[in-house]
Amino acid sequence: MNITIICYKDNSRKSQIVKAINILNSVQNYFFYKIVNEDSDLSKDEMIDWDSFCERVGKRIDEYTIYITEKPFSDNWFSHEDYKYSIISIDSWELLFAPPSLCAYLVYQIAQATVSFEADLSETMEMRMVHDRAEGCMFDFCFNKPDIKLGMIAGTICPQCRGVLLRYGIKERALNAIERILQYVRSEAIGKPIMFNENEAFIVMRFSNNDENDNAYKYGIQPALNDMNIKCLRADDKVVSGQLLEKVQQSIKKCRFVIAKVDSENLNVYFELGLAMGLEKDVLLISEDSLVMQLPSDLKNWECLTYPKGNYEELKQRIIKYYKDNYHY
Ligand SMILES: [Zn+2]
Repeated sequence: MNITIICYKDNSRKSQIVKAINILNSVQNYFFYKIVNEDSDLSKDEMIDWDSFCERVGKRIDEYTIYITEKPFSDNWFSHEDYKYSIISIDSWELLFAPPSLCAYLVYQIAQATVSFEADLSETMEMRMVHDRAEGCMFDFCFNKPDIKLGMIAGTICPQCRGVLLRYGIKERALNAIERILQYVRSEAIGKPIMFNENEAFIVMRFSNNDENDNAYKYGIQPALNDMNIKCLRADDKVVSGQLLEKVQQSIKKCRFVIAKVDSENLNVYFELGLAMGLEKDVLLISEDSLVMQLPSDLKNWECLTYPKGNYEELKQRIIKYYKDNYHY
């Protein structure tokens, strides 16, 4: 699902908004958020009135759209959302509520609007779901505005609301993407933000100079990632002291993507792959096509990109296609 985020071009917190969008796009790959600048803010009035916004702007919107405004709402809410559009006010967040940061607040509010879009919820339907008393769920009503922080610290959708969303037809994959976003909000809210480089990939493989794996890396994987401006690291690329395992662990932790060449029956490769999967990295498996049937049974359910041995141009093109299809590169 593509979602447009509209931001007034002179918004004083623009850099935080851009940062929030980057986080939203890098912790999951089901929703894609695109920022669009608008010349002037929503209205000349001091405050935003939701009903008149729906009347004036909402009816004309035909794609999923979220407005970010620096003005407060006339009803003092943080945000409003309907089937296809939403407005989030950032007024007073840093003055009255932070921490968590404005960026984490935006990520949280955008996730909430996204759920409404994905489940086709009108604000009236959402009002039927909300918890009047805050209990650390994304659907807390927050009569007392600071209660929103409880939801951010918990970073979850409670089992009851999860069940309702599934009944409304939200896809499991969409819900998982939302939960990954909420995990980020939680990490920020408890002061231990998940930090990783959104355009970095770590390559898991064993190789020696100019063998098939080394050549697949040099002539297929690395050029493909370079084409998409994804930085590519392999265990030998960094000469630092310390044990190799520790270096590998750190590299896996701080990248977004892991590509594992899994056709060589190497225990270290499987260990590192397990680590990457446990850390919920975006993992791509690669195998020569003649060896793919020999992969361990645990890996058989994972999508594995294959290529004809020695054909590195083909490998490069398939990798580029995979990232373009799945990650908007
Ligand atoms: Zn709930």
